[in-house]
Amino acid sequence: MDLYSSQISRLIAELADLPGIGAKTAQRLAFHILNMPEEKVKALSDAIVDAKHNVRYCKECFTLTDEEVCPICRDQSRNHKVIMVVENTRDQVAYEKTQKYEGVYHVLHGAISPMLGIGPNDIKLKELLKRLQQDVDEVIIATNSSLEGETTAMYISKLIKPTGIKVTRIASGVPVGGDLEYIDEVTLLRALEGRTEL
Ligand code: ZN
Repeated sequence: MDLYSSQISRLIAELADLPGIGAKTAQRLAFHILNMPEEKVKALSDAIVDAKHNVRYCKECFTLTDEEVCPICRDQSRNHKVIMVVENTRDQVAYEKTQKYEGVYHVLHGAISPMLGIGPNDIKLKELLKRLQQDVDEVIIATNSSLEGETTAMYISKLIKPTGIKVTRIASGVPVGGDLEYIDEVTLLRALEGRTEL
């Protein structure tokens, strides 16, 4: 028998499905939501639905955006001949926060992982190669220093090498296995400045 009425249980179950939310937190959030004024609840649910509905991949760099081409790709003052390859939009934002990187990005949406059955075709790699047919001076590989990130970096560098485009890898100032999004800006900058050619 459910301890809560079915509507409350449903809300708790949906919240508990989110990453990092355990049963206790889900209950706490559910009751918090139930105590919120109705317009606040509506604002929250609208934000979720609208974001899901309107957010898509940028046509050029594949980051998540609510426009056809994201503001970074539209910015003509940036160097479009330098492309930094990152695993996800969160990593891109981490680098963007340093305010020192003037190139553009390419978001893979994942990393190659034979163990998880994620291959080159499961990430935005073909899309990267297509971009390289334009005038590009350098590709900076800024995937995480996890096993998957390193595998992906190696795979990409092998693909790009024959094109003659310079391929670099951010320095390992980034801790091994570290997620880029949790690393402070100074460390990220040092990693970028200390990048080496592959
Ligand atoms: Zn873009």
